[in-house]
Amino acid sequence: MRKLIIHPIAFLGSFYYLFSALLICSCTTTQIEQSNSKNQTTSIKSSTGALSPAHLYREIKVVKKFIPKGRYGRKYKRTMKPRYITVHSTQNYNGDAWDHARALAKGKLRAPKRRNGNRIGYLTWHFTVQEDVVIQHLPTIEQGEHADFNGPGNNYSIGIEMCEHRGNSRQSTLDRTAKLCASLMHQYKIPLKNVVPHQHWPRKGTKQEHKNCPHYLMTNGRPGKKWSQFLRSVKRQYNRIQVPQAVAMTGNE
Ligand SMILES: [Zn+2]
Repeated sequence: MRKLIIHPIAFLGSFYYLFSALLICSCTTTQIEQSNSKNQTTSIKSSTGALSPAHLYREIKVVKKFIPKGRYGRKYKRTMKPRYITVHSTQNYNGDAWDHARALAKGKLRAPKRRNGNRIGYLTWHFTVQEDVVIQHLPTIEQGEHADFNGPGNNYSIGIEMCEHRGNSRQSTLDRTAKLCASLMHQYKIPLKNVVPHQHWPRKGTKQEHKNCPHYLMTNGRPGKKWSQFLRSVKRQYNRIQVPQAVAMTGNE
């Protein structure tokens, strides 16, 4: 028999440990209220042409809203060399990316710190994606707390949450996430096989070791056709990247 389920994420749903109004997130039953209406229905052009890494990054529209350095989920300095990208979905039908950014920056997403569980007392991840923007919460060279306690998912992966609030286009969110994955793959030389769903990482000591996350890309709780399709879209975006050729040197002529 397993012990009590204490996943940094699942735990919150059970214990309502938060001191604010049940701000739970990261593929849980988050109840962050959507306090502003940034639901612009900006559609992303389905661009397929070649472009530079910088151009792709601009297309993604990353806004940096970091958790304050030295506080909350960044109170410990924990450096990281990214080797994986872990994709989640919020399962929060109320909060948008801005709401999640505010909650993270104010230290509202608490989780009890414990041995073999959450290591810092907070949930954190790197990027939250919605149809029209990506918000970055952590530098990609710092560890997050979103996947598997002290496992490689937290130690070596960049965590991405995809929004699911009402009115948000799932397809545009997926397209933007695919571009973000491609950009990060290029930046950190991460192979496509290391772009994984949260489901990939076992959460030792929990009842459901392999969480069904991101749930709408899993098939019966596991990667299947929908996940493969997502990976193909990541690959398509990655293949668009063309590094400008360096000017030829003349010294060897
Ligand atoms: Zn997840």
